[in-house]
Amino acid sequence: MLIRYCCESIQTHVMTTGMDKSIEELLLAKDRRRDLRMQRLERGCVTLSFNLNIPGLPKSNDSFHAFFKTCLVELKNYLLAHRIVTNKETIHCETDVAGDFFLAEIVDSDYTAIQIKQVCESFETNHPVGRLLDVDVVDEKGEPVSSGKAKTCFFCNNAPAIYCMRKQAHDYAAMRMKVELEISKYQEQRKRERICKQLVILATQSLLHEVALTPKPGLVDRFDEGSHTDMDFSTFLNSTAALSVSFQKIANFGYTFSGDDLKEALPKLRLIGLEMEADMFAETNGVNTHKGAIFLLGFSIFVSAHLLSEDSFTNEKFVSVIQNMNGDLVARELGKKLYLGKETHGEVCYRRFGKKGQGIRGEIQAGMPCVFQKALPVLHERFDSEEVLNDKILNKGLTHALLAIISENDDSNILYRKGEEVLEELKARAGVCMQKDEGENSDSEYEALIDFCNDKRISPGGSADLLAVSYFMYGVNRNLVKRK
Ligand SMILES: [Zn+2]
Repeated sequence: MLIRYCCESIQTHVMTTGMDKSIEELLLAKDRRRDLRMQRLERGCVTLSFNLNIPGLPKSNDSFHAFFKTCLVELKNYLLAHRIVTNKETIHCETDVAGDFFLAEIVDSDYTAIQIKQVCESFETNHPVGRLLDVDVVDEKGEPVSSGKAKTCFFCNNAPAIYCMRKQAHDYAAMRMKVELEISKYQEQRKRERICKQLVILATQSLLHEVALTPKPGLVDRFDEGSHTDMDFSTFLNSTAALSVSFQKIANFGYTFSGDDLKEALPKLRLIGLEMEADMFAETNGVNTHKGAIFLLGFSIFVSAHLLSEDSFTNEKFVSVIQNMNGDLVARELGKKLYLGKETHGEVCYRRFGKKGQGIRGEIQAGMPCVFQKALPVLHERFDSEEVLNDKILNKGLTHALLAIISENDDSNILYRKGEEVLEELKARAGVCMQKDEGENSDSEYEALIDFCNDKRISPGGSADLLAVSYFMYGVNRNLVKRK
């Protein structure tokens, strides 16, 4: 219905601006749409059409077309959720001078034409920019179905839309500007949802793939608890499930953060981190499975979301933001006592070993060199050419990346518990395994490393956390940056 009035008002508009040819094409396109509908009516079906209410010309461009496609998917899902099915064989979808257009027959519906119209109207009403959407239903006899409710004008939000169109109550340029603004706001919101969802999926996957990597030296894997006695595979699965809930919160916070200085986000980030620790301990009966991962992944999700919101994500930018946010973290948190009472392991390590004992804080202050300089190049080399990262490919690539991290990482937990000599031997052994990764003795060298960790009761948990972050950063590059 609205198309007709829309054409009438445009006709007047273009006649005064000397665009006779355009209006002729527009009317022809409209006639063709009517013919298409008539062809479908011959089979005695209810038909449904969908188009956008775009004031003025052109009726479609890249932005309108992308918006139309988004809304069409939403409409189809909405109909399907109400068990209203369109006949795939008879679908007609095209873009011409009259804009983007979808036409289909409804099949096997328990609904009458008026009920289908009501469902379509509820779709429009519930949609954030529903007044730009026009879903028309024509019954079996070819009569347009109307619920009798008049749509309010999109522009003035006051008079009925048809009234404003007929009266040409508003300036076309101003109306188009408002339409374009509303569409871009809606698409931006969709983009935020898509990116945040993807970041949450990646973060959760990174923890799952890290723990599932088997075998691992001294760490919990699918079949072995490594050097641990208080946790196993299921403890990590439970912990991951608990943390995944908060990943969404961090992603949204990073995406929407609008302060001048990202450091202003730190108190809230720490607060979410503390909540996550409590959730983790509740699900693991008090065992620390992911404290380091919460810290590293929390930062990584926040900064990635923020840079992706600005379309400015690069690894270099990520590193510089992480460094700016944390500043002199080591001196601030390890150089002076933050907590009353006994020194923490981190404080003891820093006092005894200096730079080498900076642990996870040193790694993040330096912009995560183990991730960006050691593990990521390995993952790019192993995974970039693979379309699907199956279990076998993941296991090989992640094992190699883990070895690259262990060979470089001054893990403060190992330093604190086992001393410098054991840490250096572990690093050297991991380095040897890496060199022989594809060679003849690679398996036996790796087994020897696992035995070494088991014998000495070493758990390179800090390296496992960095592996999870490396997988996450790889995923951001692979899924959200390259395929933008
Ligand atoms: Zn109006």
